[in-house]
Amino acid sequence: MLKTHTCGELRPVHAGQEVTLAGWVNRRRDQGGVIFIDLRDRWGIVQVVINHATAPQAHDAASESRAEYVLQVRGTVRVRPEGTANPDLETGEVEVIADEIRILNESKTPPFYINVDEAIDETKRMQYRYLDLRRPPMQQNIILRHRVIKFIRDYLDKEGFVEIETPILFKTTPEGARDFLVPSRLQPGRFYALPQSPQQLKQLLMVAGYERYFQIARCFRDEDLRGDRQLEFTQLDMEMSFVEREDVMRLNETLMIALAETVVPEKPILAKPFARIKYADAMEKYGTDRPDIRYGLEAVDIGDIAGSSAFAIFVSNVAAGKPVKVIRAPGMGAISGTALRKLSSELEDLARSAGAKGLAWMALPQEEEGEVKGPIGNKFTVDQKLALFERVGAQPGDLLLFMSDTREIVYAVTDALRRNLAERLNLLDANVLAFCWVIDFPEFIWDEENQRWDPSQHMFTMPMPEDIPLLDTDPGKARGSQYDLVCNGYEVAGGSIRIHDRALQEKIFPLIGQTMEHAKAQFGHMLEAFEYGTPPHGGIAWGLDRLVMLFAGAPNIREVIAFPKTQQGADAMAHAPSPAEPGQLEELHLRVVLDEEDNASAG
Ligand code: ASP
Repeated sequence: MLKTHTCGELRPVHAGQEVTLAGWVNRRRDQGGVIFIDLRDRWGIVQVVINHATAPQAHDAASESRAEYVLQVRGTVRVRPEGTANPDLETGEVEVIADEIRILNESKTPPFYINVDEAIDETKRMQYRYLDLRRPPMQQNIILRHRVIKFIRDYLDKEGFVEIETPILFKTTPEGARDFLVPSRLQPGRFYALPQSPQQLKQLLMVAGYERYFQIARCFRDEDLRGDRQLEFTQLDMEMSFVEREDVMRLNETLMIALAETVVPEKPILAKPFARIKYADAMEKYGTDRPDIRYGLEAVDIGDIAGSSAFAIFVSNVAAGKPVKVIRAPGMGAISGTALRKLSSELEDLARSAGAKGLAWMALPQEEEGEVKGPIGNKFTVDQKLALFERVGAQPGDLLLFMSDTREIVYAVTDALRRNLAERLNLLDANVLAFCWVIDFPEFIWDEENQRWDPSQHMFTMPMPEDIPLLDTDPGKARGSQYDLVCNGYEVAGGSIRIHDRALQEKIFPLIGQTMEHAKAQFGHMLEAFEYGTPPHGGIAWGLDRLVMLFAGAPNIREVIAFPKTQQGADAMAHAPSPAEPGQLEELHLRVVLDEEDNASAG
């Protein structure tokens, strides 16, 4: 080894020891006869003192060195002189007096500071990702990710799970996204699909008798990128035999709590055991199936009161079976008239962008005798107002926001308003982990455009046993055995008990618009496997990138992935994707046909 110690480990107990360190120049301060270099490696930073009088060779090397030069330093540890300790450094009580310095490599001036934690243009970061990853905050994220995965592996091993790798070159495994296809050279005109998840294979491993499987699995979904979505991402994928919904949820909850309390002990978990929310309730209260429960701001139905008000839109909506709901924004009505008009118009714009036609509101006075402000205050009688205030738990100074439209639009507005209000009210404590389970999803969601049912999770999800007869009579009412784990408004895991019976699986295909012929061509191997003693089974998959993002308090998953893609799906460092060589295309029997638009977007 070119080093005997790490930069980060030196403490007063090492005083007097001769050490060899190797790392990068974090900072250099030249004071003439004495040069100070802060030397950095993955473990931390230590101050090196280079004295011209006692170590002229080392002083020459230090004079030549610049930021990010790679140095090997031989010297002696000493406790820093009285009054010069640096409490900001973990090694701040000591320094290394250099005897000899070797420049192992030079560095050009980096395109951004490695040693200063400041905002850097993300394009630059992506282009020089190896330098970005050298920055201590990024190293912390990547190491946190390692610790998460290591903990999971050890924990599941103890619980009797076997880690089994499944292929990347496989056949379509739909999870609701577009497949990535890989052309086969050996079989011209045929394609592999990259797995959107190892779903089929893990179920087949249950048929194969492994009973408890997991994998840190790479998944591929060709969809538009977002802050919490990449083309390829990592799941903790898991499957268990002879289990019921409760078993999978319990094991995962225990694992999640142990993991969080070990790797991010500074982040409190909002509630243990995790809250369980039925899908229908989540939609009614929060407008989403991944509610952020760090705050309330729940939508409350006031249809019965609004239906008899003098506000024509509410009256006719209620008559047409549409909901009228209120979100109470605590204290937000206690502002000046001008500020209130500005706020209400901003919130109305937000509601419109979520599909609403408008947003009615009432601002409650601070004093008992004050007037209710807002466009619909006079449309409610005193008694109706009192009933309304009691229903929503209104307090003086509150702002009440009224939503009424189709159920779907009210959901979207509820979700948008809650997120926005929570930010304005400062209710988003990034330090808290607010986990909850969402259960009792519908098995299917109606796809108006294609006039068919879409699986709410995927086509292998078992309906709740008591709802199986509904597949024949009223599929939209059947609940699936799906369970999702949500944290701070992000879905961090999702799974279900699976169908393990061929006849039942075959019933699903026509409902989701697949002919039996097509289903057999795509999934014949699954159907066949179900005829050879398939145990009842179920599982789950965690989105590891999202989870580590939340643990790290990072704003998006790119911060916790070593080499992520940009929003355009590109690797900005290596310039992928890139054109193929003509010879490669020929071997693959492919021809590329581009129109003008394609040429433009390929840049
Ligand atoms: N395959 C599912 C997914 O990737 C998870 C599961 O059902 O286990 O979301």
